[in-house]
Amino acid sequence: MEVIRVRGLTMDFRRRGASAFRAVEDVSFTVDSGETLALVGESGSGKSTIGRSVLRLLKPTAGEIYLGDERIDNLGYQELRELRPRMQIVFQDPFGSMNPAFSVRRTLMEALRTSSCPKHERDRRACTLLDEVRLDHRLLERHRDELSGGQLQRIAIARALASDPKFIFLDEPTSALDVSVRGQVVNLLAELQERHHVAYLLASHELDVVETLAHRVAVLDAGRIVEAGQVERVFADPLDPCTRKLVQAESREPLAPQEGAPG
Ligand code: ADP
Ligand code: MG
Repeated sequence: MEVIRVRGLTMDFRRRGASAFRAVEDVSFTVDSGETLALVGESGSGKSTIGRSVLRLLKPTAGEIYLGDERIDNLGYQELRELRPRMQIVFQDPFGSMNPAFSVRRTLMEALRTSSCPKHERDRRACTLLDEVRLDHRLLERHRDELSGGQLQRIAIARALASDPKFIFLDEPTSALDVSVRGQVVNLLAELQERHHVAYLLASHELDVVETLAHRVAVLDAGRIVEAGQVERVFADPLDPCTRKLVQAESREPLAPQEGAPG
């Protein structure tokens, strides 16, 4: 089932004293439930801008964006508020994405406020969310500075799941993590997708992460999709020179094994 449809997405940024800069041009794709589409490309190629446009954190210059049957590129603030719970984001920097003044409990409670979970069930739901991301309930009273990068990213994932979203934009979700915990977080994301049939849009320059998580991949160069297809085909037999360059540049260190100390 189609969760996201993007057609002809174009994003211009205005720059003071200069002509507008086109960060994304005529990008089209779909993402189904239970499916991961990866966006790969050099830094500055437009991955985050595309994801942020789909989430409607940005208003696109042109193009159409659909969440399910609903067209969302032209919605106003109030209408967007209502569909925010159905779309979530996990940022690259787990440290920066958690309020240092909040405990894990408070962080999850804030997320549950915008969900359909009734008030009297939120404590239990917070525990269930920690179970989902395989963290001990004792972490509920901890604060940001008492948690590891891996633990913080699991909490960011739990927070994204709180509203039972149909779609999550994963913006370089493992790039800031120690190599030793990257594989665990990738496996966790795959497992959660299987359980909840959520659609992922994954921005990443780590091709091993893309290979593990993604079903299809779109390669970006300067805001345009230059190649798209099944991950196996695109990486094994890249057609575009840009894709070739990416595949060759990647040192392809294997992911750390799944077992081991929890991150
Ligand atoms: P990626 O995520 O692939 O690294 P981005 O989507 O962040 O790329 O950026 C694409 C291009 O758009 C870059 O040249 C970046 O400098 C520019 N850009 C991104 N956000 C803004 C903004 N808010 N204002 C102006 N330029 C921006
Ligand atoms: Mg980015």
